[in-house]
Amino acid sequence: MQYQEILRRLEQHYFGAKPGLDFENPYQLLVATILSAQCTDVRVNQVTKSLFAHYPDAHALEKAEYETLSDEIHSCGFYSVKAKNLIATAKILCEQYGGEVPPDMDALVQLPGVGRKTANVVLSCAFGIPGLAVDTHVFRVSHRLGLSDAKDPEGTEMQLCAIIPQESWGSAHHWLIHHGRQICSARSPKCKDCFLADICPFYQEQKEQK
Ligand code: SF4
Repeated sequence: MQYQEILRRLEQHYFGAKPGLDFENPYQLLVATILSAQCTDVRVNQVTKSLFAHYPDAHALEKAEYETLSDEIHSCGFYSVKAKNLIATAKILCEQYGGEVPPDMDALVQLPGVGRKTANVVLSCAFGIPGLAVDTHVFRVSHRLGLSDAKDPEGTEMQLCAIIPQESWGSAHHWLIHHGRQICSARSPKCKDCFLADICPFYQEQKEQK
């Protein structure tokens, strides 16, 4: 099967790939992932360095002043909605979960600013619970490679989980993100330098059209 060869090569090239966000516990990863929407990991890591010193846990974050927090996360973009979501999420964590992040998909997606992608990142990277988060890179690369033809991220997640062994879900997320960032970018994929070019349906189609 072609997808097995694709996954084998991805694993070979990106073996041991790690999350780009800095974190030491599930709370920090949840906050960092909420901040990372439409923002780079590098920028988020710059911001969270001091943010986690000011707000070391959900109890501190729920007491944050909206204006102050907005200023602190301003450079991450969409700071107004992110500040509101962070405070609201912290309140729920304190009121319903004793200030801890629940290791549960259904509970996580109820938190403001948390969708399946963020929940899967937290479950997989902070708790070691199998999950395959589909962000813009995972969506684009998996479609170009013919690993999914689903119309939305949730459908893509289901299709990828069906062909990738459960123990590799978390790793596959990182392989696809790294490939999307380093080689298969949205605007100018480096197909001629890509180790998947000979079996990539997107590239083969492009060549036939020329
Ligand atoms: S051949 Fe091109 S489109 Fe296909 S995975 Fe590689 S970079 Fe992406």
